Amino acid sequence: MNGHAVVAGGGIGGLAAAVGLLRAGWEVTVLESAPDFSEVGSGFALTANGVTALSALGLGEETRSLGHPLRAEGTRDVHGRWIARLDAENAPESLRLHGVHRQRLHGMLLAAAHGADLHHSATVHGVEPGSLPGEFARVHVTENGTTRRLSADLVVGADGLRSVVRAGVDPAVRVRYSGMSSWRGIAGSTDLIGDAFRAYWGPAAEFGALRIDQGEIYWYGYVRLPEHTDFSDELDAALTRFADWAEPVPALIAATDPRRLLRHDVYELSPTAHRIAAGRVVLLGDAAHAMLPTMGQGVNTALEDAAALGRVVRPGELIDGVARYSAERYGRTRGIQRRSAMMARIGSHLSNPAAVAARNGLMRLAPVGAMASSSSRIFDWLPPAPLPDADD
Ligand SMILES: Cc1cc2nc3c(=O)[nH]c(=O)nc-3n(C[C@H](O)[C@H](O)[C@H](O)COP(=O)(O)OP(=O)(O)OC[C@H]3O[C@@H](n4cnc5c(N)ncnc54)[C@H](O)[C@@H]3O)c2cc1C
Repeated sequence: MNGHAVVAGGGIGGLAAAVGLLRAGWEVTVLESAPDFSEVGSGFALTANGVTALSALGLGEETRSLGHPLRAEGTRDVHGRWIARLDAENAPESLRLHGVHRQRLHGMLLAAAHGADLHHSATVHGVEPGSLPGEFARVHVTENGTTRRLSADLVVGADGLRSVVRAGVDPAVRVRYSGMSSWRGIAGSTDLIGDAFRAYWGPAAEFGALRIDQGEIYWYGYVRLPEHTDFSDELDAALTRFADWAEPVPALIAATDPRRLLRHDVYELSPTAHRIAAGRVVLLGDAAHAMLPTMGQGVNTALEDAAALGRVVRPGELIDGVARYSAERYGRTRGIQRRSAMMARIGSHLSNPAAVAARNGLMRLAPVGAMASSSSRIFDWLPPAPLPDADD
């Protein structure tokens, strides 16, 4: 008989996990608390490791038409002067990226997860992790007003930053405000940045823009703000914050329909999770390792987790599988979390003008090749080899 896996959360990480587990022969139930399966209307950069993960999930073909190929060109200051310039033409394959609309990726994963038993309006509010071997795990879920307990051979906590499942794995972890908030907009403009991924570092802020479709440019403005700041007019607030930055920053913001503008306060885990598995429960994506968005790796590492999970955890050998998953994923994601925090300290959290000028000066002197090759170590990721009985 196939093992039964229950996935808590039907975001990008949860659906990708469902796809990986289905391919490995699991029966999969996905429990999503929202009233339907959907994603926020914004974009992100799919990096080479994310592409590799999607291919390992059997979605290589679909991924090719998912997004828009981009040229990573480096980072500029608020006046548009280079801080670090990449040689885009000769950039290694691992630095290639694609601009992707999150809803398109989510839709693709939802279609690929059609063999799973998908439940929306189903909120998980507790997990008993069970033990290996022996006891099943139990998931407490309320669906349409009815609460029940589901038994599972394996539970995947893919329920995001404020994971309920994480409490059963590493209860010491808390969610902490990072001091930063991020606008995310989609501008309808077609000709402001070509195919470049534009990135700017300022004092106490960072701005980036990338094409996600022929007529859509996704941009983010990551700024220092007190938690829960509320602007009556978000577009006007973003325009004011970036008014004196080099074009096309203000023009991109001005070309945004206010209905396609979001702002979210950005949180991190403190302390970082020391464990991402307990008993029959594993954590994945933000539930395991929510990270600052400064390396653009939240989605990409969630996809890696899912691809690895499907390859190393098999119904018949859970004890080894859960241990293999932890060993594969903990160190790597912890390293990327740390690096994202370091990039935040250098890139966007600095506010003192002298410190910003010193940073920009030092960055201009640093060998760009060395920076690119240290980033390549993140993007060059390969999934674990499939176990011998894997169906791929
Ligand atoms: C402002 C901002 C900018 C970002 N920019 C980037 C970027 O450029 N690139 C990048 O790679 N990443 C970026 N990220 C990070 C990225 O959004 C996350 O890392 C990624 O979405 C994590 O996916 P996930 O599936 O683990 O979690 P989520 O997307 O949070 O999905 C969790 C799902 O679980 C559901 N859920 C929650 N609780 C329960 C429950 N109790 N029961 C059942 N279901 C539940 C939720 O409704 C949701 O559908 C950014 C994040 C922020 C906040």
